[in-house]
Amino acid sequence: MDFDDTPDEAAYRARVRDLLAEHAADLVHLDAGEEAADPREQEQALRRTQRVLADAGLVGVAWAAEHGGQAGSLAQQAIVGQELARARVPSLINHIGIGMCGPTVIAHGTPEQHEKYLARLLRAEDVWCQLFSEPASGSDLAALRTTAVRDGEDWVVNGQKVWTTLAHVSDFGILLTRTDPDRPKHGGLTMFVVDMHAPGVTVRPLRQMGGQSDFNEVFFDDVRIPDSERLGEPGEGWRVALTTLLNERVAVGGGGNDLGLSIESLARLAGEKLPGLPAERQVLARQAVGRAAVAALANRYTGYRRLTAISQGGLPGPEASAGKLAGTAAAKLVADAGVRLLGDDAVFAAAPGDGSGEDGAGRWQRNQAWLPGIAIAGGTDEVLRNIIGERVLGLPPEPREDKHRPFNASGSTR
Ligand SMILES: Cc1cc2nc3c(=O)[nH]c(=O)nc-3n(C[C@H](O)[C@H](O)[C@H](O)COP(=O)(O)OP(=O)(O)OC[C@H]3O[C@@H](n4cnc5c(N)ncnc54)[C@H](O)[C@@H]3O)c2cc1C
Repeated sequence: MDFDDTPDEAAYRARVRDLLAEHAADLVHLDAGEEAADPREQEQALRRTQRVLADAGLVGVAWAAEHGGQAGSLAQQAIVGQELARARVPSLINHIGIGMCGPTVIAHGTPEQHEKYLARLLRAEDVWCQLFSEPASGSDLAALRTTAVRDGEDWVVNGQKVWTTLAHVSDFGILLTRTDPDRPKHGGLTMFVVDMHAPGVTVRPLRQMGGQSDFNEVFFDDVRIPDSERLGEPGEGWRVALTTLLNERVAVGGGGNDLGLSIESLARLAGEKLPGLPAERQVLARQAVGRAAVAALANRYTGYRRLTAISQGGLPGPEASAGKLAGTAAAKLVADAGVRLLGDDAVFAAAPGDGSGEDGAGRWQRNQAWLPGIAIAGGTDEVLRNIIGERVLGLPPEPREDKHRPFNASGSTR
């Protein structure tokens, strides 16, 4: 494990810091006070932020130049991620497009699709979403039921997706459909690029317990998609989806970043709140802070180990599953400790959007409410444990009795 930048990486990091300082006035910052009250204004500000960063060469860092990228390394891309976090710039609005949809279009799209989509995606001129999960298929993704039926030069799509992050602001999505129910479930799938503004696409935001609406239900009623918008061959959708999921693993598990609020924020909050707590609560709060600090530091250093592997040209394997699992657990401990320090304030003070700043109660509450989602998105804790059991520990695989049966004869969705 190597914690230090190589000389080249250090020079690159310095250049990134300079660029971020130079463009600071044009970027959205997390500490800037209240989020824009109008979500549309906030969306526009986030699109503008990504465009400024793209024009400065800080988006699509590891993408090939022919696709509008900087032809840099994954280590450089991770450095940009770390420096954006350090500069308190929020996640890029098109993070799903950059992390998952774009790489899938690059790997399986035609030259015409590359030309049409990629540069616009990097500049957030188009925002993208990933339309995979359905009400009856999440962990068992290959059991999905949204159909696409060939009709002349088009495919006609009917069905429903759910939990689609960013669909409410998206212009395009990658859509996994069933095109051949007579084949086994993994064999009858086909992937498309879908225009989210096409007739027959309905997006309904879902409200989360933290108050915000980050994800959506999406309905498809006789939506026509030209065959030229297919990604990969008919029936090859599972292979295409694996490209997306591998890139999701790199995006989620590869960066060495903290999930949620940082240990530094927790230490600041502890310094402020601990002295005022009665002795018996102080003991418990100190223990909670200690446990969280250990877990968060272990997670950070495990992240550095992945980063070192990336920097040496590797890709994270099943250990990314362990990384995500440990990261989620650490993030929960950090948030729990924060709420314990806040005591009654965690319940009564600081509603979302009150401008209470980085360490204010509102931010801890929102983080607490967001955490159950982190343990589900990109693979639930249980599914990650299955992956670790099978691929790292070599335990016997789960029974998958429907794997080779035609989907429409499987009798169940599992
Ligand atoms: C914040 C967030 C953002 C998301 N964004 C997107 C998105 O942009 N696009 C998209 O397509 N989807 C998205 N999802 C959906 C996500 O991929 C699914 O929620 C996830 O795959 C789990 O599927 P499910 O909700 O259907 O739960 P299920 O798969 O039904 O699981 C229910 C429970 O059963 C457990 N379980 C399931 N199978 C097994 C097994 N084999 N062994 C042991 N336990 C098992 C699970 O761990 C879970 O506890 C998002 C979800 C969240 C929370």
